[in-house]
Amino acid sequence: MTLKININGTLLPESEAKISVFDHGFLYGDGIFEGLRSYNGTVFRLKQHLDRFWDSAKALFIEIPVSKEDMAKAIYDTLKANEQVDAYIRLIVTRGVGTLGLDAHLCGTPQIIVITRSLQLYSSSLYEEGIKIVTASTVRMPANSLNPRVKSLNYLNNILAKIEGHNVGCEEALMLNHQGNVAECTGDNIFVVRNGKLLTPPIDACILEGITRNAVIEVAKSMGLEVLEANFTRHDVYCADECFLTGSAAELIPVVEVDGRSLGSGKPGPVTKAILAAFRELVAAETQQQR
Ligand code: PMP
Repeated sequence: MTLKININGTLLPESEAKISVFDHGFLYGDGIFEGLRSYNGTVFRLKQHLDRFWDSAKALFIEIPVSKEDMAKAIYDTLKANEQVDAYIRLIVTRGVGTLGLDAHLCGTPQIIVITRSLQLYSSSLYEEGIKIVTASTVRMPANSLNPRVKSLNYLNNILAKIEGHNVGCEEALMLNHQGNVAECTGDNIFVVRNGKLLTPPIDACILEGITRNAVIEVAKSMGLEVLEANFTRHDVYCADECFLTGSAAELIPVVEVDGRSLGSGKPGPVTKAILAAFRELVAAETQQQR
């Protein structure tokens, strides 16, 4: 079956789903995106994703030309057209078609694109064994540059760091902020576990406020675990008992080696495993309730 892509409410076969070369999303990375996931036909934490999407648009002076309800409908229409129940969903809003020049005022209506397809970031064996990460020399953008809380179409900061990781055989790269504290990985938030307590960088550490991050904090607290949102350095990562990353696509992926240092037992630890199981239960409960 040909994948159908939703562009401005019209479902088109993949080969016909095209955007103008004068769209500022293409010319300048001028636009925003969201990565969501549906389980069993229900999108997990849809409201939070749409709120974050609208917040990103607001920060960039982009007026999304439809309501959140219409956007939710577009997502479900696309899932239905593709006969998908478990899928990764990519929402994109570009500034629109303009000219060769930065002037955003010359752009037409923002373009809305919905792509739904399967996405597996990591093989199942990596969930069992854990991944290795390395610190990138590329630093996360400071909040007074392009705030990492904005999920903009310009992901070059993260892409450069990811290339650095891949160049040395690592699946992900750890990004520090301009203060030298741990920020996040290129497409995931980071947690460390020490003495049974969880530590994750605060929102103002130049990170994207991950929906999975927030769900994991809730899950961990409901399990009676202490969760601290505080600044920390790589030293705390090296000396952690466990470490894992969170994201809509990855869910929770254990990290077992950082900058050549093996963490804890060198295998995914019990706290990570327990939180992953509890997270999956939460997802199942929430996506069943809403159906
Ligand atoms: N940080 C960055 C830079 C991201 O792009 C993402 C999303 N891929 C995340 C963290 C995780 O966010 P979420 O849990 O909302 O998917």
